[in-house]
Amino acid sequence: MGGTELHYVQEAFKTNWIAPLGPNVTGFEQRLADFLGENVYTAALSSGTAAIHLGLKLLNVGKGDLVLCQSFTFSASANPIKYLGADPVFVDSESDTWNISPTLLEEAIKEAISNGKKPKAIIAVHLYGMPYKVQEIKNISQKYDIPILEDSAEALGSMYHGVKCGSFGDIGVLSFNGNKIITTSGGGALVTKSSEIKERAIFLATQARDKAPHYQHSVIGHNYRMSNVLAGIGRGQMEVLEDRVLARRKNHQIYKDCLQHLDCLQFLEEPVGFFSNRWLTCILAESFEMREAIRNSLSEENIECRPLWKPMHLQPVFENYKSYVNGVSENLFERGLCLPSGSDLTEQILKRITDIIIKTVS
Ligand SMILES: *Cc1c(COP(=O)(O)O)cnc(C)c1O
Repeated sequence: MGGTELHYVQEAFKTNWIAPLGPNVTGFEQRLADFLGENVYTAALSSGTAAIHLGLKLLNVGKGDLVLCQSFTFSASANPIKYLGADPVFVDSESDTWNISPTLLEEAIKEAISNGKKPKAIIAVHLYGMPYKVQEIKNISQKYDIPILEDSAEALGSMYHGVKCGSFGDIGVLSFNGNKIITTSGGGALVTKSSEIKERAIFLATQARDKAPHYQHSVIGHNYRMSNVLAGIGRGQMEVLEDRVLARRKNHQIYKDCLQHLDCLQFLEEPVGFFSNRWLTCILAESFEMREAIRNSLSEENIECRPLWKPMHLQPVFENYKSYVNGVSENLFERGLCLPSGSDLTEQILKRITDIIIKTVS
């Protein structure tokens, strides 16, 4: 926590706004919108997953539809496709950003169209905070007239050519889960350029109650709004977001300074114009065996590390869905490791970690 969160939470208690609406919710939404850019509207929700679910619904995804989804991601990107009774089509990554491959995306769209079924949406993810190839993906979206749901859950504070991630998609998604760069303990937001879409999102997130003195409903709703208590944490966290990005980028720089002389390890570089919040610092070892050796020697020192996300097309739960693959994400999954990346890590702790890694691989 940054320190001012408690002030906003206490304000909620003092004024008795203990509800999924109130001044903190509105204030947090405004602060987020101001941060993301001009003409941006945000709706604060109970989770990033809820934002993806509502986002797909607002893009008219329904039963039996196809949704293209980056395969290299966390399962929360893909699960809401199934909540709506639609079917995912997974698309592998390119190696410059580790995100959705424009080439494979276009191939998947062409094949779906020639099979008589145009996909309803594209879910592109800025994984680990690295922006996806925004312009290339947007060009494809426009060429085939298929909207983009931008999963920016890991990329608050990241930028593409100076523009904030979260503001690129037809609908954007943020997460404030406990593990993200800023947190409300649990929470998320839907981002849009249209005030009507924002209103519609809030309508659906608050049980879809029609305008009437009694309780009347014409469509199925959800209970997805953010609590005013948690939004207080969010307001405080927004005051330290820039510091958190600096801290994560500093972690990354220290890891790189200490380890880049080792030919057996690789880092993901920012292409020109790309700015990553470096939510997590990831390394690629030259083999699965070396990755495991590093993970195990850190684990022996009580330092937890995890392999990179296991691609969706390799997950048992999604094994029967179509995928367009090139081996990139599978290779990243085999060789990649997320290093400890908390915003509060000291140089001394980072040095201890890199010393263990150097000893293991030399
Ligand atoms: C965390 C995360 C989500 C889900 O957000 P929650 O707030 O945890 O529901 C979605 N996509 C990605 C890529 C994430 O990392």
